[in-house]
Amino acid sequence: AKREGRSTWHAYTADLSASVAERLALRNDLQTALDDGGFDLHYQPLVDGHTGRIVGAEALLRWPHPVRGQIPPSHFIPLAEETGQIIPLSDWVLETACRDIGRLRTGNLSDFPVMVNISPLHFQRSDFVSSIRAKLQAYALPAKCLELEITEGVLLDNAAHTIAKLGELKELGVRVSIDDFGTGYSSLNYLKNLPIDKIKIDRSFVNEVISDRHDAAITKAIIGLAHHLSLKVVAEGVETESQFWFLKRNFCDEFQGYLFARPMPFADFSIRLRERGGR
Ligand code: C2E
Ligand code: CA
Ligand code: CA
Ligand code: CA
Repeated sequence: AKREGRSTWHAYTADLSASVAERLALRNDLQTALDDGGFDLHYQPLVDGHTGRIVGAEALLRWPHPVRGQIPPSHFIPLAEETGQIIPLSDWVLETACRDIGRLRTGNLSDFPVMVNISPLHFQRSDFVSSIRAKLQAYALPAKCLELEITEGVLLDNAAHTIAKLGELKELGVRVSIDDFGTGYSSLNYLKNLPIDKIKIDRSFVNEVISDRHDAAITKAIIGLAHHLSLKVVAEGVETESQFWFLKRNFCDEFQGYLFARPMPFADFSIRLRERGGR
């Protein structure tokens, strides 16, 4: 047992140093990607359940690493948040999204909205609202073309501060959604106080909405709650027809998931939108 413990200990220290080296390397690579334009922004359609039309898109960050291939955002975003690199990275995302929105806005697509995920660290900065305003101005975009997705965690601390910021965004005309709804620790109280527009039901509920009656009950309750508060509801991670029909039957407004489309490069999305989009 003693020997086993020793080898475990050795393995453990080896792993630890590997992970420190790994994080350092990744941090350097992230900087290189930031400096050299190594990131991509993909777009996933949001679909209206009644018409089947594309009514919006979520911008999702992609990092095609030159050696390791695609590194998922769930891997590098927490690191970028730790190192502070999330700030220049968020700026790149916003800049790119605004440029792309500008290119989408033709004909009947002049109001087409794109959702951008906002990191709590970015949202908490004192210049957050002015940075959003500046981007809209630089690309001459109407505020309704840009929607921000924030998680419940953002709403937890600094309540007064947060309410003020959301109020400024609302005044500007930028819509805000609560992402991953139902997975945070916050009370439902904020829903009635905050000027938000939409909630996105987390994929973990949608995933088992057919097989787990508790997930089904929670999902129905979230939709009812949102509608009573005059909020729109989006289901994320819709993968099957039966999930879609369940959600549609229970009055979910908009849908996002592999059943409709995976996130795709801007060029592909733009073509698809012209074929199936418009409102
Ligand atoms: P999220 O905001 O909840 O985004 C939805 C995630 O679900 C995306 O993963 C998307 O590709 C995935 N997804 C969409 N439909 C389906 C489906 O039907 N089935 C399954 N299994 N997955 C589906 P992705 O792109 O890997 O992003 C993961 C998370 O990384 C995002 O979760 C978001 O929290 C974060 N993220 C992505 N891009 C950005 C960004 O530009 N800025 C910030 N701050 N965070 C980002
Ligand atoms: Ca999101
Ligand atoms: Ca989510
Ligand atoms: Ca998420």
